[in-house]
Amino acid sequence: IENVINRARLLRSGFTDVLTGWHNRRYLSVRLKEELARARRDGSTLVCLMLDIDHFKRVNDTWGHAAGDAVLRELTQRIEAQVRASDVAARYGGEEFVVLLPGTDVSAGSRLAERIRTEVSASPIALPCGESVTITASIGIAEVSPAPGDKDLKTLGDSLIARADVALYAAKSAGRDRIMVEAA
Ligand code: GH3
Ligand code: MG
Ligand code: MG
Repeated sequence: IENVINRARLLRSGFTDVLTGWHNRRYLSVRLKEELARARRDGSTLVCLMLDIDHFKRVNDTWGHAAGDAVLRELTQRIEAQVRASDVAARYGGEEFVVLLPGTDVSAGSRLAERIRTEVSASPIALPCGESVTITASIGIAEVSPAPGDKDLKTLGDSLIARADVALYAAKSAGRDRIMVEAA
């Protein structure tokens, strides 16, 4: 029995980001395929938000890595306060986060993204050193409605993420602290 518990724990830890307690990229890729299959079955739309902190390197450079870590933790709390339990949120990379919104279209997804963006910068974040810092973030948005004939969900998921990333890059280029929907 102890072995079973340990294995379950290990399996879960393999899907969990230690710093934030959020799910990691591995978990995201599993859930993305499941959500695409569900959207294909229901004929519904899946929206992907990709968020990246603006000029995050400055936080580390100015206040140190521990301060950067505190910002990452607080950021996940602020995002979490805006999303539903049925949404899939994960730490995608260092300071990049993905939220999948099942059964949502791009206009509702944009409203949520705008709310997240606003909340992220709404108040300063307290740092372990006693100082505080206000951050902003940019968010790229893409959507997909899988067709009944779409068989390769792995490729479909990869392209959804890639398109959200392109939109994110466009948001950065346009001046940061903004959301951007993928070009039609
Ligand atoms: P941009 O607005 O273009 O996104 O600029 P940026 O400075 O946020 O982007 P860049 O990719 O240059 O820097 C990302 C930084 O994120 C660099 C890296 O040290 C930091 N980072 C990534 N993971 C962690 C982490 O787990 N903890 C801390 N403290 N910093 C991290
Ligand atoms: Mg980045
Ligand atoms: Mg960044």
